[in-house]
Amino acid sequence: MENKILVHICCGVDAVYPLRKLKEDFPNSKIVGYFYDPNIHPEEEYELRWLETKRVCDDLNIECIKGDYDLDIWLEKTKGLENEPERGERCSVCHDLRLEKTAKLAKELGFNKITTVLMMSPKKDFQVLKSIGEKTAKEYGLEFLAIDFRKGGGIEKMNKLSKEMEIYHQNYCGCLFALFQQRKGEYIPELTKFGKGRPAGSREELLFIKHIRLFSENLGLNCSEEEFQFIGWKVLNSSLKINKENVPHNVLYGSGSLKGVLRARVKDIIEKDNLTVFRLNKGNIEIWGLNTELKDIPLDNPRFLTNPIFIVGKEVKDNLYKNPKMEIQLKTEFDPNIKSRNLIIGNRQAEKYITFHSDTTLDGLNGVDLEIIKDVIKSNVEDIKSGSTAIIIFGAKNIGKIGEKVFYMENKYCLSSTEKTG
Ligand code: SF4
Repeated sequence: MENKILVHICCGVDAVYPLRKLKEDFPNSKIVGYFYDPNIHPEEEYELRWLETKRVCDDLNIECIKGDYDLDIWLEKTKGLENEPERGERCSVCHDLRLEKTAKLAKELGFNKITTVLMMSPKKDFQVLKSIGEKTAKEYGLEFLAIDFRKGGGIEKMNKLSKEMEIYHQNYCGCLFALFQQRKGEYIPELTKFGKGRPAGSREELLFIKHIRLFSENLGLNCSEEEFQFIGWKVLNSSLKINKENVPHNVLYGSGSLKGVLRARVKDIIEKDNLTVFRLNKGNIEIWGLNTELKDIPLDNPRFLTNPIFIVGKEVKDNLYKNPKMEIQLKTEFDPNIKSRNLIIGNRQAEKYITFHSDTTLDGLNGVDLEIIKDVIKSNVEDIKSGSTAIIIFGAKNIGKIGEKVFYMENKYCLSSTEKTG
């Protein structure tokens, strides 16, 4: 019988070396990947790990099947085990579920062997995985390949390959319970979403970049990423009351906090082209009144001044001319460890750059549609391959064009032509 191996895959990093090893060790076998990770939280993280898994499989010409995101089933199975430590009973149940589903699918598709790249992870117990894998495979009349991928310098090979391929490397196993334990009492950014769309430095922005990379690589284009760090910012709570009525508002990126509740009135009014600035008589606060409905304002440069700036739409702005009583509260937080990245498709030293950006403002606006970028990539494939054109997706544009500034600082050579499309 021809060997057919179904390989359970949890993420790109853990798959990058085991898939190569399996191809070497079983050269005459059909190898197919099965990404099944209902344990991953949140769903955006699950999608990110899937994209990177697909990229690793595509690179090796290995077909990969994407399993369903059965979070409800996973939560049901692990009920009562929420407080178990990592490598404890909850992990056994989690492995059981994933290997059981792999064995079931293998049987349905006529495979005779199964295995899992979980055996690559230094944090997993090889013996536990081996015994669960063998028991499950036996129930379905299959063979389980118990391979300790870590042996023989496996970890070093995995690290080298994942670095070369710039694979996203998560910093937690996957489930929300392990995250709670890992960050005991700390704020967990991985489980929090601030703003709609793809704010700079968010997982959504990273997902967008990885989508474009996967698409480009499948067209045979070389890609590289350039990661950079910046001071992130978010609003923890804000309130703007005019004559005791809460009014809809945004807060400009980089605004600092206020202490307690501030009661203020308008001191000065400065009319500008597209907005009116109302300076208040306390707290160095400004309210920027738009001539349109309420939306976020993208920044051309990062903000270093941290005086609070509120943004209001036209309706609220008109009220401010009447010098009403205002009550204001604002609590914000800065985070120096936020990262974003630029994606370079093609040759960095190309004669012509076509540029886009990956992020949106916090309200989900000022972004570029994925399909538009794909169309431009497709219509420039030959020029990108010849090295005359490169497409660059800049990260963190809306908070001061940070990615663009980093790129031009790092790539100081002369540019003959840059076409900005978004
Ligand atoms: S820590 Fe990892 S293996 Fe254990 S239950 Fe959570 S996701 Fe599953």
